[in-house]
Amino acid sequence: MFLRYRDTPLQAGARRRFHFDLARRSPHDISEPWQKVCFRLVILVGFAAAFAIPPASAQQEATKLKVVATFSILGDFARNVGGDLVDVMTLVGPNGDIHVFAPTAADAEAFRNARLVIVNGLGLEGWLPRLVKSSGSNATTVVATRGIAPRKTAAGEILSRDRGAGSLDPHAWQSIVNAEIYVANIRDGLVATDPANAATYRANASAYLARLEALDRDVRETVARIPARRRRVISTHDAFGYFAAAYDITFVAPQGLSTETEPSAGDIATIITQIKKEKIPAVFLENVSDPRLMRQIASETGAAIGGTLYSDSLTKENGEAPSYIEMVRHNIRTIASALAN
Ligand SMILES: [Zn+2]
Repeated sequence: MFLRYRDTPLQAGARRRFHFDLARRSPHDISEPWQKVCFRLVILVGFAAAFAIPPASAQQEATKLKVVATFSILGDFARNVGGDLVDVMTLVGPNGDIHVFAPTAADAEAFRNARLVIVNGLGLEGWLPRLVKSSGSNATTVVATRGIAPRKTAAGEILSRDRGAGSLDPHAWQSIVNAEIYVANIRDGLVATDPANAATYRANASAYLARLEALDRDVRETVARIPARRRRVISTHDAFGYFAAAYDITFVAPQGLSTETEPSAGDIATIITQIKKEKIPAVFLENVSDPRLMRQIASETGAAIGGTLYSDSLTKENGEAPSYIEMVRHNIRTIASALAN
């Protein structure tokens, strides 16, 4: 059995008209003038619609609060508190070194367009006043370390000749308790800039703060399992002072608070002597520092290279430390495994 196609009277009429039209027309004459006009109108309206009405996702992007954070760790905090309501740009992205950052015209443009700017303070962003001035930004600025007691370097702690005792240490985020203060400051900045969404910012911040408290407990438990006499490590630059104070691990670094300053031959000799004398078990590389110095120190002292620590910068999504929480977990896991026994 098969079905035969049958024209309805209307279809049959249309078909007859079509055949009649084809017979009348020259090959180039595709349509009647009014049809041409209609066709063009449809195309024009289609184009206009495509360009005038952005897709829903682009509309949502455009209405998000524009936030600029100076480096990736602050950007991660801002995304955790702002969630879907914010569009966060970081000036120094994954694996970038904030100590040697030089802002570009594009960074000034980002500052100009931002409603909220998040900075670390404690002297970390020495280039900031010039950038704010040149951009003409009138964004609200959050200093994320507001309310944190700054750590000052002790005499003899910094070996590099140009940094003496009493320098302000800007790496306050390395203590998780301090990170909680960063997050509270960022929450307050978002609430002040965008009060209509205050409830969401507060709820996101509470959830994230609970995760940071759990992280702090985990780090303390892990450190407690490392024998006290083994809790001594060498990091490349002096970025773990707050971590050391919070979790009772001694860090010594050949390079000072900033990666800008190269250690002198004398500094390196001092560190080598100290590692041998105190039997410091491990030295660590950093994602923002040249690994060659630490490899040299390891080979001259017999200390093991314990792995890479992430101090001032997160990694890309597929790296070992794409978020602050993953960074801290990676660091403590790496330290604990190098110092075990
Ligand atoms: Zn640093």
